[in-house]
Amino acid sequence: MKIKVSNVNTPNWKEVTVKSRIPAELEKLSEISRNIWWAWNFEATELFRDLDPELWKECGQNPVLLLERMSYEKLEALAKDKVILRRMNDVYTKFRDYMDVKPDETRPSVAYFSMEYGLSSVLKIYSGGLGVLAGDYLKEASDSNVDLCAVGFLYRYGYFTQTLSMDGQQIANYEAQNFGQLPIDRVMDANGQPMVVDVPYLDYYVHANVWRVNVGRISLYLLDTDNEMNSEFDRPITHQLYGGDWENRLKQEILLGIGGILTLKALGIKKDVYHCNEGHAALINVQRICDYVATGLTFDQSIELVRASSLYTVHTPVPAGHDYFDEGLFGKYMGGYPARMGISWDDLMDLGRNNPGDKGERFCMSVFACNTSQEVNGVSWLHGKVSQEMFSTIWKGYFPEEIHVGYVTNGVHFPTWSATEWKELYFKYFNENFWYDQSNPKIWEAIYNVPDEEIWKTRMTMKNKLVDYIRKSFRDTWLKNQGDPSRIVSLMDKINPNALLIGFGRRFATYKRAHLLFTDLERLSKIVNNPDYPVQFLFTGKAHPHDGAGQGLIKRIIEISRRPEFLGKIIFLENYDMQLARRLVSGVDIWLNTPTRPLEASGTSGEKALMNGVVNFSVLDGWWLEGYREGAGWALTEKRTYQNQEHQDQLDAATIYSILETEILPLYYARNKKGYSEGWIKVVKNSIAQIAPHYTMKRQLDDYYNKFYNKLAKRFHMLSANDNAKAKEIAAWKEEVVAKWDSIEIVSCDKLEDLKAGDIESGKEYTITYVIDEKGLNDAIGLELVTTYTTADGKQHVYSVEPFSVIKKEGDLYTFQVKHSLSNAGSFKVSYRMFPKNPELPHRQDFCYVRWFI
Ligand SMILES: *Cc1c(COP(=O)(O)O)cnc(C)c1O
Repeated sequence: MKIKVSNVNTPNWKEVTVKSRIPAELEKLSEISRNIWWAWNFEATELFRDLDPELWKECGQNPVLLLERMSYEKLEALAKDKVILRRMNDVYTKFRDYMDVKPDETRPSVAYFSMEYGLSSVLKIYSGGLGVLAGDYLKEASDSNVDLCAVGFLYRYGYFTQTLSMDGQQIANYEAQNFGQLPIDRVMDANGQPMVVDVPYLDYYVHANVWRVNVGRISLYLLDTDNEMNSEFDRPITHQLYGGDWENRLKQEILLGIGGILTLKALGIKKDVYHCNEGHAALINVQRICDYVATGLTFDQSIELVRASSLYTVHTPVPAGHDYFDEGLFGKYMGGYPARMGISWDDLMDLGRNNPGDKGERFCMSVFACNTSQEVNGVSWLHGKVSQEMFSTIWKGYFPEEIHVGYVTNGVHFPTWSATEWKELYFKYFNENFWYDQSNPKIWEAIYNVPDEEIWKTRMTMKNKLVDYIRKSFRDTWLKNQGDPSRIVSLMDKINPNALLIGFGRRFATYKRAHLLFTDLERLSKIVNNPDYPVQFLFTGKAHPHDGAGQGLIKRIIEISRRPEFLGKIIFLENYDMQLARRLVSGVDIWLNTPTRPLEASGTSGEKALMNGVVNFSVLDGWWLEGYREGAGWALTEKRTYQNQEHQDQLDAATIYSILETEILPLYYARNKKGYSEGWIKVVKNSIAQIAPHYTMKRQLDDYYNKFYNKLAKRFHMLSANDNAKAKEIAAWKEEVVAKWDSIEIVSCDKLEDLKAGDIESGKEYTITYVIDEKGLNDAIGLELVTTYTTADGKQHVYSVEPFSVIKKEGDLYTFQVKHSLSNAGSFKVSYRMFPKNPELPHRQDFCYVRWFI
């Protein structure tokens, strides 16, 4: 055979990017489109929209895509449009004025790590609350002009978009993102080549491309492994958000943590504080320890420095929600790290275990984060308490209320979430410093000076906009779901902007209890079909693709919404994302949230609603427990009446119906001659004046500085000064204490006989003296008397902790004394606790050695 079946070599492709040709007059548009600043500066968004409203919609409100898709003829015509050019120049001046300010160097610098960021629905790198929070945080960091940078992933598919089948089954669609059409830039290295970060995975490397999102003045670096340098096993690491199996999840967390730090190193970025937003990124601390060890420090010295500069924010209130990895799987990828950290494999595993030494226990990312971060916080006051309890298993020897876990209540980025119409109203009536002083309650009080009619008019404008949007956008989905076109028409007619509109939008996790409203359908039907008090409910939200129960809830709501008595009264909107959220939180009258307490760590969508004059009606959980004020919204009591969840649900549902019937609806429909309810406007004004200022992202950011960043940066600099002198000193001191800990001896103890017998009188003072041989340690031991009481549930709580004073020192013998008295009579438990004492430690759990004795 002379002729082969074929003869083809493999092509050698060269990548070329064709930039869209923008007329010189419109160059500024292109520059603005590449900074996501436009996402919260609506003059910019509206400018892009007005270039070509149809195309804008088609492009999913993505200005980069809009400019790319626009024909050159159209662009040339725009380049001659004086009005457009003037608007462009105005926006551009505002943009440049904003960008040209240097960062505030008086505050500590921060590196922030998160698995997701919700910046705009254009960038599908978020799934829900956690991401939106991180996105809002970056926007505020930019507005507050702090020195912060962030690391995350550029997902190929991101989180899914949701459609529903005829019978209400959720269909998850994963659409690949075309990176060339997103408002992101490829990061270049020193040689002008696209930067690639090589991340070690035991015996090979994963290669990550690095992209940058300009979030105003803040840089967000995104890693992406979906490129031809990686094998088919590693390309999917950054395919999906919360998709894939445990192995992929571990590979993601290695990329975010280890890869995240390697990326900052490649970029030459060093910050004072490293902030881990949820446990996913905790492995940053592995890489940071490796880097210190590589400079010649020991592990013990390195972890002092790492801990002093680390903050871990936990968002998940139940242990089951945290990431645990089997030792085998963890070892497969992380086996090479202990040697680089200067410890053994078991040591590394133990850093992630509740019970160090328990070989059966898996590696928990959150436990590791706790053990390697000086500061830990929950995301609301209540969630802080819940987290103390949850993590008290790590720091045995202390009671939950003693655990060093704080909180910062989540907020929302005001410019992103308040509608343009509301911003205009605020600017008209509020102090001119409002923008820079958003969390100042004094300024918000001016809402009381706004005429009631104006508030009502603004509310109605937003409501009408939402209703229009629903009618336009959801015709097709309803057509599909309801089948019969005539039914759709009657449905459309039924959406009534004059009815009380109640919104419920969030992830469909079962603890959020979206079904609660449907507990008693007969009663609900009476409420929604009362001709005097029309009311409509809008539901929206995605269930995680693996969460069958959550998907079941959606299906049930769809079924109920189709029953004749609920048609047009209960409406489910597909595909909850930031764009829909913005319309919803400004367009409804009431924002409803009914989680099982205390599982809503914070919740933020109700805060978004506040800023648009929407009133909250929620369970006293998360932020609402702190936010609720009488006369400024409605609350379902925090008391738990039934242990049985089903009974509790029934009671809560009955409470919702009754508050609706007796308070909310009568107040809303107490219309005056001008057509609105004065009582309602009062609630709206109270809610804006008394609650909104406390839930801005500015307040949240300031809290992080005041409670954590400032403190961490100060201690980190103290430890690292003079070639890490203090870190070395503290590590040496701890090592010495550890070496002698077990040999420390109680030489004598002098207590009154009746105290020994456990029989004491209230109000009477007892003197207790201990002599302890510190075995050569120099005043390194603290001693305290701990008194506890036990509640009916069998839990032990601290009643008092009384420190002993050292009253005498003779060689190695220290004499401790305390004068003890109890002012209350009752049943208590008493014990003595010994701990390492050093004023230079930030808190007790930083060196969690405790010995109890009696
Ligand atoms: C704000 C927001 C959330 C968070 O909602 P909560 O349930 O209140 O925490 C989730 N998804 C989207 C799209 C949001 O905009």
